[in-house]
Amino acid sequence: MTKYVFVTGGVSSSLGKGLTASSLGRLLKSRGLKVTMCKLDPYLNVDPGTMNPGEHGEVFVTDDGGETDLDLGHYERFIDESLSKISNTTTGSIYSNVIAKERRGDYLGKTVQVIPHVTDEIKERIRRQGTLGADVVIVEIGGTVGDIEIVPFIEAIRQFRRDAGRDNVCYVHLTLVPYLAPSGEQKTKPTQHSVTELRSRGIQPDVIVCRSDQPISDSLKRKISLLCDVPHAAVISAVDAPSIYDIPITLHHEGLDTIVCNTLNIDLSEHAIDLSPWESVVRRVHNTNKRLRVGIVGKYVTMPDAYLSVAESIRHAGFAIGAKVDIEWLEAERVPSEIDADRIGQLDGVIVPGGFGERGIEGMIATARIARENQIPYLGICLGMQIQVIEFARHCLGLSDAHSTEFTHASTAPVIALMAEQMDVTDLGGTMRLGAWPAMLDDGSQVAELYGSTVVSERHRHRYEFNARYREQFEAAGLRCSGNSPDGRLVEFVELPGHPFFVGTQAHPEFKSRPDRPHPLFLGLIQAAAARAEGREPHIIDPSTVDVTL
Ligand code: GLN
Repeated sequence: MTKYVFVTGGVSSSLGKGLTASSLGRLLKSRGLKVTMCKLDPYLNVDPGTMNPGEHGEVFVTDDGGETDLDLGHYERFIDESLSKISNTTTGSIYSNVIAKERRGDYLGKTVQVIPHVTDEIKERIRRQGTLGADVVIVEIGGTVGDIEIVPFIEAIRQFRRDAGRDNVCYVHLTLVPYLAPSGEQKTKPTQHSVTELRSRGIQPDVIVCRSDQPISDSLKRKISLLCDVPHAAVISAVDAPSIYDIPITLHHEGLDTIVCNTLNIDLSEHAIDLSPWESVVRRVHNTNKRLRVGIVGKYVTMPDAYLSVAESIRHAGFAIGAKVDIEWLEAERVPSEIDADRIGQLDGVIVPGGFGERGIEGMIATARIARENQIPYLGICLGMQIQVIEFARHCLGLSDAHSTEFTHASTAPVIALMAEQMDVTDLGGTMRLGAWPAMLDDGSQVAELYGSTVVSERHRHRYEFNARYREQFEAAGLRCSGNSPDGRLVEFVELPGHPFFVGTQAHPEFKSRPDRPHPLFLGLIQAAAARAEGREPHIIDPSTVDVTL
């Protein structure tokens, strides 16, 4: 029988519900349980694909092409399972299904209502997760208890315990215990209010996880236990951790996985925990013997969550070589006027990440030029690869107005264009290339060496492509199209022989990096960055030989 854990949050947003849920996922997996995770988001967008990353953070892409909430990135990085489109559900997608059913007459003349029709649809989405063969499904409810939009979700998960049986459901509620400096005290009142709110919707939490900047004392735990009616052992202190990868260890020491397993009637003796692989990751996080500086030159750098997976991938690669990597967030629009070649030259490496729209494009092109001309390691991700292609065309092919048709149709050299434009047809449209696509890498290329393979699969999310008409011109001038789609039509990877690391990919490798398995391209960048920092030649390490058991 599949067990379900529902994680809700109260008091404030941004408490780290996604990381708490992910950490619990890792702990249960470390107990030998098969875990899957999903997120229910109470907003009206059908998916986050259309949402501004500057406001909502990155769109995380799954293998099957789902455009999902960034918390799914945490889930994948912590439980190391590939999730799918159905791992993220929004109010918008629930309602569009319910309304489509209503139009088809599926409700047989009934009045269609939030209860039961919307709540049934929510429960159906949750149950679907339970058919995937997991022992435990962890369901995070986005938003905060007390929000108007969350009510149908809370009602659905309340009903779920009746449907699935008491022993098969555990409610975990995350709250904030603030420290008030003037009185020198930690306060439990917001937690009490939050639990009261949850109870008013019919849910008594089984576990309360208290976020705070200092550990919660035993007497405070007793108070929360008494006032919120949970066992003392079910009050978990989740103090700010030195890194997100420490959180599972902290929560395990607090007994989170034990109380959740007890609530779900999971026999702990049959599921002893083996945290050693994760502990070795955490040792790597902290055992660094060098520092590197990598710049991310993008449009949404004031909202680092817009590039969450890129930043984590940089860190993972750093862990593998014992480097702490400081990320410098550089606003593309400020290059080169305020952020000039000297400033970029002080970096050990630079990334131009994915993006849409025209703002900052010229600054990104200037960045690629500075990196190419000054031997600064550069990784171009999706838009970042398109940028390096445009830059190379302008300055090495003499196509001075080279551009992408995303930004202008006036260019005489559209080196990046929609497939339809490249083929002079109009019926292919501008649909997004989404999800996992295979690529073939040239034998002996830098990327093949990094991946240790000539067949790879990466996740995509873009409309525009390298314009194959210019392939020969680029190759003749030295930019190697080193990875292509199996039919040879789409350029997936470029690199510049002779440059320590000037690699671009049309894909988003950041979605597949794991803390204990850095992505080969990020590892390549960080290796080259370390070499630059140390003033030595880069040497490429085979990712399969990276020893994570320090
Ligand atoms: N805007 C570009 C395109 O649509 C790149 C997208 C991206 O970087 N994800 O092709």
